[in-house]
Amino acid sequence: TYVVTDNCIACKYTDCVEVCPVDCFYEGENMLVIHPDECIDCGVCEPECPADAIRPDTEPEMENWVEFNRKYSEQW
Ligand code: SF4
Repeated sequence: TYVVTDNCIACKYTDCVEVCPVDCFYEGENMLVIHPDECIDCGVCEPECPADAIRPDTEPEMENWVEFNRKYSEQW
């Protein structure tokens, strides 16, 4: 899965949301999040993010971000 990290805070762009083929972006409290079970790992959103906030969970120490993204995407 891909996850949204804190560089997204206060970013007003939604380019990532527009390109996602499965619509798995959700609104968190002050940033967007990706539902980790809905993301199909296509990677299309990553280069679209002007804040470099979208990272693959294969990078080190992403576990907390996966849980954060899950928590805020499941509140809807
Ligand atoms: Fe959507 Fe693909 Fe980005 Fe996952 S990697 S959030 S499926 S655009």
